[in-house]
Amino acid sequence: METYEVGLVPGPVSVPSELRAAYQINYGSSDLEEEFFKLYQRCESHLGRILATQNRVVIHSGEGMIALWGALKSALRPGDRVLAVANGVFGYGIGDMARQLGMEVEVVGFGYDNVPDPQQVRESAGRFRPRLVTAVHCETPSGTLTPLKEIGEICQEFDALFYVDFVSSGGGVEVRVDDWHIDLGLLGSQKVLSLPPDLAMVTVSERGWSAIEEVGYVGYDALAPWRTGVRDRHLPYTHNWHAIAGLNLATELILQEGLATVFQRHTDVAADCRSQLQAMSVELFPVREDICSPTVTAAKVPDGWSWAELDQALRARGMVVGGSYGPLADKVFRIGHMGSQARRDLVGRGMEILEEVLKRD
Ligand SMILES: *Cc1c(COP(=O)(O)O)cnc(C)c1O
Repeated sequence: METYEVGLVPGPVSVPSELRAAYQINYGSSDLEEEFFKLYQRCESHLGRILATQNRVVIHSGEGMIALWGALKSALRPGDRVLAVANGVFGYGIGDMARQLGMEVEVVGFGYDNVPDPQQVRESAGRFRPRLVTAVHCETPSGTLTPLKEIGEICQEFDALFYVDFVSSGGGVEVRVDDWHIDLGLLGSQKVLSLPPDLAMVTVSERGWSAIEEVGYVGYDALAPWRTGVRDRHLPYTHNWHAIAGLNLATELILQEGLATVFQRHTDVAADCRSQLQAMSVELFPVREDICSPTVTAAKVPDGWSWAELDQALRARGMVVGGSYGPLADKVFRIGHMGSQARRDLVGRGMEILEEVLKRD
């Protein structure tokens, strides 16, 4: 297939050669070897440090969506009340998923280019009394980052479980699972961690485990077997040792660089990206710059261009970015600067190419 010199898709991101190398070993059976379980536990401990949590971290073999579906099905029964805090494609989408599973869903929506207003969330939670509240940290399709602390406090106030999708922020932006009272925290391997789309992770609090036991959901994506599975050396399926080896290295590299340094690198690259876009009169999509995510920048497709034309013109010069989804399709394009792509030189080169392309006429 065609590979691009300037790859800035907001996930899956490009996998660096050192992480690809971790896949090139002929591992034994993950069911049989003690070494595999030790490696898994090392990953769990690294993730705990990256996500500021003492909670257990379940590492599923599967793409990020398995975490989103599995956590909903494991913690809720049909008929349970879910308050979906929605300010983007994933936020509304998670509400739809819960509805499809038979839950009673109320959406507290804030459009697509803004962050939630905690006061409105509190009002909805007080009236609706949900068993679980969902939120999305980084809305990847619109490039916003939602502050979670206050929503976490609201969940505590109304004794609701807090389900958070931090798939495209975890590892690149500060996420404080314990301080923010996140009961089910969701992460995927193909965003900041810069691995193939092989793994989906869920942090589970004690309250989360109690709900999971009570519900008793069984299935490939069920969380229940993971409560004791690693301790008892008995997992629900043969795990992906290659991916776990990649995850061990990816998380080790983040911790070696230092969390504060990694977060700052993302913040700096994002600020660079936004100021360069603004300098060429490309409008940012979120309503305010202070709600833009450090991991992805969303901008409006410039006047006189369709997304398809822009995409084609960039590809012709060796650059690939993301379009968007749902109501943002064709209107918004996105520059993914997370993980391996959070590099000033790479984004700078991308901005040069974009500038050349926009000067076409
Ligand atoms: C990438 C991503 C997921 C996983 O979804 P895919 O589209 O299957 O990659 C879930 N939530 C968010 C916010 C994401 O960015």
